[in-house]
Amino acid sequence: MAVLEHLTSQQAIDLENKYGAHNYHPLPVVLSKGEGVYVWDVEGKKYYDFLSAYSAVNQGHCHPKIVGAMVEQAKTLTLTSRAFYNDMLGKYEKYATETFGFDKLLPMNTGAEAVETALKVCRRWAYQKKGIPENQAKVIVCENNFHGRTTTIISFSNDEVARENYGPYTEGFVKIEYDNLTALENALKSNPHVAGFLVEPIQGEAGVYVPSEGYLKEAKALCEKYNVLFIADEVQTGIARTGKMLAVDHEGVKPDILILGKALSGGVYPVSGVLANDDIMEVITPGSHGSTFGGNPVAAAVSTAALEVIKEENLAQNAEELGELFREELNKFIPSCDLVVKVRGKGLLNAIVINDTEDSSTAWDICMALKENGLLAKPTHGNIIRFAPPLVMDREQLMDCVSIIIKTLNEFTK
Ligand SMILES: *Cc1c(COP(=O)(O)O)cnc(C)c1O
Repeated sequence: MAVLEHLTSQQAIDLENKYGAHNYHPLPVVLSKGEGVYVWDVEGKKYYDFLSAYSAVNQGHCHPKIVGAMVEQAKTLTLTSRAFYNDMLGKYEKYATETFGFDKLLPMNTGAEAVETALKVCRRWAYQKKGIPENQAKVIVCENNFHGRTTTIISFSNDEVARENYGPYTEGFVKIEYDNLTALENALKSNPHVAGFLVEPIQGEAGVYVPSEGYLKEAKALCEKYNVLFIADEVQTGIARTGKMLAVDHEGVKPDILILGKALSGGVYPVSGVLANDDIMEVITPGSHGSTFGGNPVAAAVSTAALEVIKEENLAQNAEELGELFREELNKFIPSCDLVVKVRGKGLLNAIVINDTEDSSTAWDICMALKENGLLAKPTHGNIIRFAPPLVMDREQLMDCVSIIIKTLNEFTK
C-alpha cells in the first residue's frame, strides 16, 4: 500500500492497530480535515468537534492567522536550539509575559514538560529561597489530579491505569482532597517542608469538577500564610476556555507559578510554558534546565498569533456567554431525562454526568450515537461526557449542537 494512497476509515484504523502502540482507545472515527468548529472524516462526513483536542483547539481548527504565522516562520527559520539566540523568542516572551502579567516565561513544548518544569522551579525555590533542607521539599497535590504522563507526574496520580507497573515512583508529594481547604491547611501545618501547592483550577480529566466558589482564593491565601508557592496548572482551563483568559481570573487569583500548554498554540504546534516573577524564576540558571525545541522560532510565531486570536476575536467573552446558554438549555432538558444526572462546568468546559455505574459502557455508547448524529465527544471518567467545543463557535451553531445532544439522549432513553 502506497503511503499516500487514499484510505477508508477502516483501513486507517487497521494500520494504527497493527503498527501503533495501543496507548489510546479512540472513538472509531478517522478525521482528515478541520476548519473552525468542524472536522470531516475520510468519507467526507462532517462533525462538530466537541472535544477540541482536550481544549488545545480553542481558536478553532486550522485558524488561518495561526497557520499563516506558522507557514511564514517555517519558510524562514525553524530551529536553532537555545545554543544561539533567535529573533522571535524575545518578542514572544515579551508579549506572553505582558499578556499574563508575569516577569518571565520559560518556554517548553508539551503540557507535561511544563508541569515538570514548574516542579523543578518550585523545588529550587524551596532550597535556595525558603531554606528547606536538601532533598526534603514536598509539593502538595490533589486527589484525582491530571497533570500529564511522565514518571514523576504519574507518581502523584491516583489513576491506577496510568500508574500500574511504572514504579518506582518519585517521592516528595503529599496528596489531599480537592476542593477541601481544611485538608490543605492541615497538610501545610503538619508538613514542615512544603514548597508548593499544585492545583488545577477546574479538574478537567477527572470529569470537569468545578471547586466551590472561593476555593482558589482561599487556597492562595493559605499558601501565602505558609510561604508556599501556589502553582496553577491551566494547561486545560487556560486561554479563554472557561470564559476568562485564565480560570483563576474568576476569583482574581494570581498564581506564583502558572503552567500553560494546549491552546497556547491553538493546537497548531506543541507549545507550553511556565510563567513566574523574577524572585522565583531567577533560581533557573544556565545549564540547570532546557529543551532543544522549547522556545523555537516557529513556536514563538505560532503562540503569539494564537494569543492574538484569543484577544482579537473576544473568545473569552464568547466562551462565557455560550457556556451560560449551553448549561441553561441542558438544564431545561435534564428534568425530563432519566439518563442524565446533571450538567456542570464553566465557560465552554462542561460535562454531563450519566445516570449509570462508573464501569458501564453507557457514556461510550452515547458518544457513539452522538458521532452518528454529527457531533464528536468523548467520555472522561466512566460515566461522564465532556463537552468542550472550539471557542469560535456562534450561537446558532451552539443551538444546533444542543439539539443534536438532546435528540441523541432521547433516542437513547427509548
Ligand atoms: C493535558 C494536560 C496536561 C498534559 O499536557 P500534555 O501536552 O498532554 O503533556 C497537563 N495538565 C493538564 C491539566 C492537562 O489537561
